[in-house]
This record gives sequence, structure tokens and C-alpha cells, in this order.
Amino acid sequence: MILVTGGAGYIGSHTVRLLMDKGYDVVVLDNLVHGQKDFIERLNVPFIQGEAGDGNLISTILKGSHKECCSKEIEAVIHFAAYAYVGESVKDPAKYYKNNVTGSLSLLIEVCNESKRRNSAPIPIIFSSTCATYGIPESIDIPITEKCIQKPINPYGRSKYMIEQIIHDFSVAYSLPSVIFRYFNAAGAHPSGDLGEHHDPETHLIPLILDAALGRKENIEIFGCDYETKDGTCIRDYIHVQDLASAHIMGLELVKKKTGNYTFNLGTGTGYSVLQIIEEIEKVTGENIKVKYTNRRIGDPSVLIADCSKARNVMGWKPEMSDLKKIIDDAWKWHKIRFK
Ligand code: UDP
Repeated sequence: MILVTGGAGYIGSHTVRLLMDKGYDVVVLDNLVHGQKDFIERLNVPFIQGEAGDGNLISTILKGSHKECCSKEIEAVIHFAAYAYVGESVKDPAKYYKNNVTGSLSLLIEVCNESKRRNSAPIPIIFSSTCATYGIPESIDIPITEKCIQKPINPYGRSKYMIEQIIHDFSVAYSLPSVIFRYFNAAGAHPSGDLGEHHDPETHLIPLILDAALGRKENIEIFGCDYETKDGTCIRDYIHVQDLASAHIMGLELVKKKTGNYTFNLGTGTGYSVLQIIEEIEKVTGENIKVKYTNRRIGDPSVLIADCSKARNVMGWKPEMSDLKKIIDDAWKWHKIRFK
């Protein structure tokens, strides 16, 4: 059985759906602070409401002794559960270090303890990290490989970076097998339209523009138009959430076959500016989006584009659904169902 923490969240829920489609037994742990209860109902997956940092609970789950595990031991952990608002992390770093760092550390300790207790193949962990760990890369480093120096510039990015470091230390000391994924900009929704992005508050570009298209918002603010890019707005690498989900399955299969420690960027290698995203959304929705130019958002790098050749070469992964039109089509379908 696979334990998925944060399985009621955006990327977590899509991964749970794909795991189940592939025949994996899954149990989800989520505190439902940001996770969506109705995703769990829709996924029809065994569910435990709780904290990833609750050592006793994790220990019970890993052993298969929790009633939702039906006596099945956990064979791998996919750890999504985290707070992920950059602005909030600046205002309240304690919340981020407590939940993201202390919570994950406690989970990792329990995983290693349980592996030791079993005295058989160690339990692998798949960890959600972020391109925010790179901070503001030099333009010479674009596209960004996994070797690019990591200099996170906010507590959110640092909390993820710290866990990456802890995982490395645990792998050396306790042979913890791991896959660390550094996501670029997750976007899109499940093609069925029944899972998708639902953040409260919403801060991400695509859902905010879709809100404007639906008339839930007057306009979209563009944070800065004086960047050194072709149209002056920031460039990001948008990756379909289904492609992120498929990477987790491949990561799981990789670490089961060939134990070790792997770090992969997950993006597409193609960047789009804020204005290009607005233009594509206008095409897909047929709506005219009003824009308002405002100041740069503090800490936004001008360009973030992933070099994903390592994920392709080592795991055989490549994005299959991340064509921009497909991303927007799926996001729009979901957004209309969820928010109209
Ligand atoms: N952005 C914007 N207006 C918004 C939200 C985002 O102009 O209301 C820009 C932001 O500056 C960045 C890009 O859109 O360049 C993507 O931002 P998002 O918050 O979606 O993801 P991030 O890249 O910060 O992880």
C-alpha cells in the first residue's frame, strides 16, 4: 500500500487518481487545512484526517495497523503535504518551518524507524520540492538543470530546501531511498473535469485569469512589465498536473526497481510570458480579459524554465499533456464546473 500525504490537494489528488488507475492500493493522509474533502469522496480512497508530523499516527499507518490500511504495510510514501504560499511564508515563517520542516522531519524519522524495524528493503520516499529552491537563477543558468545552485529567497523555498538536505543526510546515514521532484509551475486539471486547482486564497496566474474570464474578478493584475523578456512580463514553465502525476508513478517504479536517491526537475523546457498566457486564455474562453499593470511582486525571478533531460534520461518521463492549449482547455473545463 502507498501512503500519500496531502492527497486531498491539487497535485496529490491527481497522483492518487493515477495510482489507483494503475492498480496501486493507496491510503491518503491529509489535515484538510487546504485539501478538499470532496476530492477524497470523488477518489473513493481510504482516508485518514491527520498531520504528517504526528509520529504516532504515522508509525501506526506504516505498520498497516490503522483501520484504513486493512493490515497492509506501507511500501512507499509520497509526501505532498505542505503549506505553499510564498507571501504567507514571509509573514509567518514559523508556520512554514513548523509544518513543512518539523512535520516532514518527523515523517522521515518514522519512515526510517519502520524500515529498521522490518529489517527488509527500506521504505522509499517521494518528496515534492520546488523550483523555488533555486531562488533567482542567473540568466546563464536557464534552462535550469538540477545542478544549478540552490539559493531560495523565502521561507517557503528554504523549508523545501531544508527537507531536501535532510533527505540527503538520511540517505547517507540510514540508506533512505528517495526521489525529490522540483516542480515548475503546476497547471491544468484532470481531463474529466472533476479534479483541479482549488486554492483559498488563490494566488496563481492561470486560475486568477480564469476567474476574470468567468466574471468572478474584474481584471487580472500583471505584476511587472519591465522585465528583460520579450514582452516585459515574467516567463514561467507551465506543466500539466497530469504529467506531474505520471512522474510520481515513474519515480515510484524507479525507486522500487533500483534503490537510490534521485532528484529531478519537472517542467516542459518551454516558457510562456504572462501576456502569452492571457492571450491563450482569451482564445480558449472567447472572453476578453481586462488587465491592470502593477508593480513587480517581490521575489519573482524574470524567467524560470526547466531543463528536464534528467527525468527523461533516467525515468523515461516526458510531458505528454503540457501543450499550453491542453493545459488551458482542461483548466477552463474544471474552473467552469467548480466556480460558475
Ligand atoms: N502573476 C501575475 N499576476 C497574478 C499572479 C501571478 O502577473 O495575479 C505572475 C507572477 O508574477 C509570475 C507568474 O504570473 O510571473 C506566475 O505566478 P504564479 O503565482 O502562478 O506562480 P509562481 O511562478 O509564483 O510559482
